[in-house]
Amino acid sequence: MFSKFNWLKLNFFKNKKFIITAICCTIGGVAAIATALLNKADSDSENKNKNEEKNNEQVVSNEDDKNKEELKPDENIQEEKKIEENQQKQKNNEEKNKNDNNSNSQKQKNSNDYSSNKQQNFHNEEVNKGDENWAHIMVNKSNPLPKNYSSNVKTIKILGKDVDTRIVDPLMSLINHAKNQGINIGLSSAFRSNKYQEGLFNMRKKEYLQNGKNEQEAYELTSKYTAPPGTSEHETGLAIDFASISNSSANLNEAFANTVEGKFLQKYAFEHGFILRYPEGKESTTGFCYEPWHYRYVGEKLAKEFYDSGLKTLEEFFEKYPKFRASL
Ligand SMILES: [Zn+2]
Repeated sequence: MFSKFNWLKLNFFKNKKFIITAICCTIGGVAAIATALLNKADSDSENKNKNEEKNNEQVVSNEDDKNKEELKPDENIQEEKKIEENQQKQKNNEEKNKNDNNSNSQKQKNSNDYSSNKQQNFHNEEVNKGDENWAHIMVNKSNPLPKNYSSNVKTIKILGKDVDTRIVDPLMSLINHAKNQGINIGLSSAFRSNKYQEGLFNMRKKEYLQNGKNEQEAYELTSKYTAPPGTSEHETGLAIDFASISNSSANLNEAFANTVEGKFLQKYAFEHGFILRYPEGKESTTGFCYEPWHYRYVGEKLAKEFYDSGLKTLEEFFEKYPKFRASL
């Protein structure tokens, strides 16, 4: 017989088993929740670190972008140009120092003389002692170049135009001088071979002939602005037709004189050895109309003498001081 006591005993054991199971489950559950919470805390911390890292990366990346924006391609080029210019300037100075045979004290004396009394310095013998006699030539309609002169000129390309290799340094120093003042000077034309000059002259003459002028009229009209072959300074590689970058519509016409480039050249070209070759009102002396864009390299010292003389044309200068003139 299954007594009441036994039944209760059984129930007790059953309940005990149940309670133990329940306790175990509860402990297990709590442990699982605790583990889950701990894992979550780890994961949060990890995510937080990851986010911080990501944010830092973003900041670095943004800084990079900012730097990239600050140095746009154009500015990079400008920067490179600036470095090139400085290198060129340094090179020019080294070359100048190397080429200058005068002692430093003599150089200092001349420099002082020049700045303290221009007139007193004028007409000294220094100009003949220079090594730029080759630049003291005069070429015009009455003084044509020897045949084949242009084929013996050694040229180099500067700003897309060929110039006599010997004027590279002064030309670059002039261009860089302007650049330092925020002015970009371009070149319209520089060296032309005799053959090119001939073609240019004939092409322009043809236009007058087509407009009803006779041969002589066409020749005379053309030669007002374009030198007949053999009489152009451009065939020497020492003449430059400068161009305005700020106002290209003024190029190769009298409006060039009023551009920032034209004004800069009027003021500073002589410091670098270049003189305005066909000034206003001197057509009868030079044989050419006013060309505010056409400059001739005559050497740094001669250009300063010319400037100080107050004379306006190379023709008048060489007539008054023939000893400065070099033969062709
Ligand atoms: Zn010219």
